[in-house]
Amino acid sequence: MADFDIGNQLHRFPGGLKLRHHKQIACREPLRPAPLPSRLVLPLAQHQGPAGELLVEVGDRVAGGQPLTRARGDREVPIHAPTSGTVVGLDDVEVAWPPGGRAPGVLLEPDGEDRFDRSDRPADWKSEAPDALIECLRTGGLAGLGGAMFPTAAKLRGPFPPIRALILNGSECEPYISCDEMLMRERPAAIVEGARILARAIGAEEVVIAIEDQMGAVRKELNAAIRATDPDVPVRVVQVTTIYPEGGEKQLIQVLTGQEVPHDGLPQDLGLVCLNVATAAAARDIVVDGRPVVERIVTVSGPGIARPCNLVARLGTPVAALIEAAGGTTGPIDRLVLGGPMSGLPLASDRVTITKGSNCILALRQEDTARRQPVMPCINCGECVRVCPASLLPQTLFKHLAAEDYEEARDLNLFDCIECGCCAHVCPSHIPLVDHYRHGKGVLRERGIEDARAELARARFEAREQRLTEREAERQRKREQRERKLRDADAAKDEVRAAIERARARARGGSTGDGE
Ligand code: SF4
Ligand code: SF4
Repeated sequence: MADFDIGNQLHRFPGGLKLRHHKQIACREPLRPAPLPSRLVLPLAQHQGPAGELLVEVGDRVAGGQPLTRARGDREVPIHAPTSGTVVGLDDVEVAWPPGGRAPGVLLEPDGEDRFDRSDRPADWKSEAPDALIECLRTGGLAGLGGAMFPTAAKLRGPFPPIRALILNGSECEPYISCDEMLMRERPAAIVEGARILARAIGAEEVVIAIEDQMGAVRKELNAAIRATDPDVPVRVVQVTTIYPEGGEKQLIQVLTGQEVPHDGLPQDLGLVCLNVATAAAARDIVVDGRPVVERIVTVSGPGIARPCNLVARLGTPVAALIEAAGGTTGPIDRLVLGGPMSGLPLASDRVTITKGSNCILALRQEDTARRQPVMPCINCGECVRVCPASLLPQTLFKHLAAEDYEEARDLNLFDCIECGCCAHVCPSHIPLVDHYRHGKGVLRERGIEDARAELARARFEAREQRLTEREAERQRKREQRERKLRDADAAKDEVRAAIERARARARGGSTGDGE
């Protein structure tokens, strides 16, 4: 295992930006639940990967926590009913990405009773086998709640080298987003217990919770929670300097260890697993309470929101309902963003609903956006290269993508781009660089899917040809067998006939002429 400290000395990652964080405006009031809307709209795939298998039909009455889909492998994550009610539709529903896009989903009308079924859970997780814990998290619908929505079971299940440390990411370094800070303030014990469960699941020797250096109160809360639980695995809190995008998995690992996750490798190759603090709290809720992932904390903020706050929203709640719960808007909104101002997705409408990865709704007025500024040609100033935390050449990537030379962009490590938005933020020509990268990745993924489909079709064709050839050979073999049998039968009949002839000849007193 690589020899390095974790968090005892802090390091730097390349590039990055110091930004005004604007977080406190949404932290003035405590967490509160968002009202249940009259209809929940739940996309089937709320994670990276294919949707699970649908388990319900229109008209079904369901209890809160009941699975609506079933995962057939670690890359699929089930969704569960966020409350009790009736399935009133199975339809394509509006999703955040691509803007204006639609995907299969379930429409659920709450019955107002909010009745919950607890899912199966271990009697005592401390004596549960690691595999059983991972299975419990998988069926509980856990995907990375930091925003990436990567299926957690796929991240926890090996094979990989022994895991030295679980790193919990509490350093949400993007302006405005404060859902993790509020979670750490209000549910530190849940995070610490979840961390211990996850550490047991992967056999980690220790847990390091990384928070920003501006979160002094959070540190105290977490340390008190650590002291109040069994010291089965050491858990430490480390404060990191607030610089964007420190909350990126690879960047945080570099800051804490000085190690770079290899370009085509994973943190697990360094003996590390990195998860968001909200993922740890949700792991605890699944394993201890038998409550699958049915809600999440969402920051509703920005200059366009009347009362910025953090709300606990059931999955499937429309963005419009959350804005209303935050006191509505301060006036006309120019841009609604899902996520932060740097890496968030512009929303095509406020009908889009909250999914497992929705950490922030940001409402910006016209004076807050630079969108109206005209896009100019690239002047090769190199500013984007200077700030790129992934050590890429953003302007070169952009030029290839603008020329639809997607393969060249891929060879220049387009997929290492974490879509942090630093390059677009500093670009004096106002080029929407990240939009180009997202589009390019989408095209390449689509081509990858097309290639995979073509490969599958070819393999199926070859297998069919092989089957037909084998079937024909088998038919031929049986035909020859039958003919041989017929020939043998004819020969036997000839022999019998000859024997009868000989017998008759003998009876007539003549000779058969065959050896007598
Ligand atoms: S910052 Fe903008 S103008 Fe400057 S090199 Fe990069 S893409 Fe070109
Ligand atoms: S968006 Fe991608 S290319 Fe631009 S700075 Fe971030 S990682 Fe680099």
